[in-house]
Amino acid sequence: MHRFFVPREAINGNSVSLEGTIAHQLRNVLRMSPGDHILVLDNSGWEREVELTELSAHSAAGKVVSQGLCSTEPRTKITLYQSFLKGQRFEFALQKGTELGIVEFVPVISARCVVSSLDDGNRKMERWQKIIREAAEQSYRGRLPELAPAMFFREACLRATRTGELSLIPWEEEKTRSLREVLEAHSRPFSVSIFVGPEGGYEADEIATAEQAGVISVSLGPRILRAETAGVVAASAILYALGDMG
Ligand code: SAH
Repeated sequence: MHRFFVPREAINGNSVSLEGTIAHQLRNVLRMSPGDHILVLDNSGWEREVELTELSAHSAAGKVVSQGLCSTEPRTKITLYQSFLKGQRFEFALQKGTELGIVEFVPVISARCVVSSLDDGNRKMERWQKIIREAAEQSYRGRLPELAPAMFFREACLRATRTGELSLIPWEEEKTRSLREVLEAHSRPFSVSIFVGPEGGYEADEIATAEQAGVISVSLGPRILRAETAGVVAASAILYALGDMG
């Protein structure tokens, strides 16, 4: 069944009203008709099966036929602090991270990034929101991952240690501390922040800044992963180790 994230106002008791792109997609792209069923998610953790009753060019309506709590969200809440990447690599990280179950993405400006101002960093927000939403619908997420505004590296480190239980910075120069070791030393944290650098990696003084803020540097093994791969790999390893991958 097709799944759609909708604004909370779209659901009013048992009636559902859909507008804009969703209405267009139902009618013109998916060629649905009254009587067809879809799943509607309002980001509250509930999913509702809806029978469509009306479809017009710009709006659609339906009624809720059943509802239940969504069971696909991971117990461990992972936030990915991803440094800006070139071309479509950042979008790859958002899409794959959403499929995996990351709950929040924070675009970060670090020393070796191509982007150097917050305004530039925030330019593609709308496009990125769309990528996240489509990936969330396709992968059966129960909640839409958040996309935070861009921030500078130091501020991001302080935010992570203030808001999360365990903050990690995978660093290819870290030769002693492994991700496994750190996870074993912490008893199943509910929230984990992961920092991944840009294509050229982090500078040594950025690692020092992170550590001062309480972010722990870890190795992801002897092979060097590309920047867009590292976050996905770290998140998979964490979700697997903490029992969130079945
Ligand atoms: N320093 C390299 C590679 C950067 S890889 C260069 O100059 O090209 C991009 C990011 O992926 C790094 O900042 C780090 O966060 C992560 N990363 C890649 N491989 C890693 C590994 N084996 N262990 C820990 N982190 C890794």
